[in-house]
Amino acid sequence: MDFSMAQAHPNKEHLAAYASGAQSEGMSLLVASHLTYCPTCRAAVEQYEAVSAAIMFGEAPVTADGPSLEACFAALSEPAPQAPTVSSAPSPLPMPIRQVLNHRNVDELNWKFRMPGLLEVEFDDFEGEHVSLLRVRPGTGMLHHTHEGEEATLILTGEMEDQGNVFRSGDVALADHNDNHKPRVIGDELCYCLIVMTGSMRFTGPVGRALNLFTRTQ
Ligand SMILES: [Zn+2]
Repeated sequence: MDFSMAQAHPNKEHLAAYASGAQSEGMSLLVASHLTYCPTCRAAVEQYEAVSAAIMFGEAPVTADGPSLEACFAALSEPAPQAPTVSSAPSPLPMPIRQVLNHRNVDELNWKFRMPGLLEVEFDDFEGEHVSLLRVRPGTGMLHHTHEGEEATLILTGEMEDQGNVFRSGDVALADHNDNHKPRVIGDELCYCLIVMTGSMRFTGPVGRALNLFTRTQ
């Protein structure tokens, strides 16, 4: 796995909300996963945590509800992932995501066909957010779409190009309703990425408009 330094990060609001325990579960999963790649954001989160702790001084510690979020935080304090005993192949996924998936191998997941070259596994347990894992073949362009809410994409493997920017392992691409974009997987490596969407996504191309009929809205 490539643990090269991430170039694109969650924004300050995401990190601060995560550190204070106020972040939604889906975005918390994304941030926790990004932190496994990014010492810069780990340091920022530690600072926010120190500030939150100071503000909360004397009060009971905030507890996260829901096993997924707890799993995220637990994963952070764990040492770098070692070869798991249950699977011989190295996982392309960081530990927080593996824990949400109960350590299933990527080939054991319930992949759904979305379009040629693009498969998706949706995570069910994130209320109010659309959280999913994509497996995208190089050369595959995703459909033009815009957002009612916010979309965050964490690249796990491979390379994605979007509006002239290239995102690699550990990078976070953020998009909101001002963006009408068409990300594309480039290079020659299979791209796994984690997508967290708040609000709904709207396809804008001619084929995409038909697909809107099939996509779920929040
Ligand atoms: Zn970062």
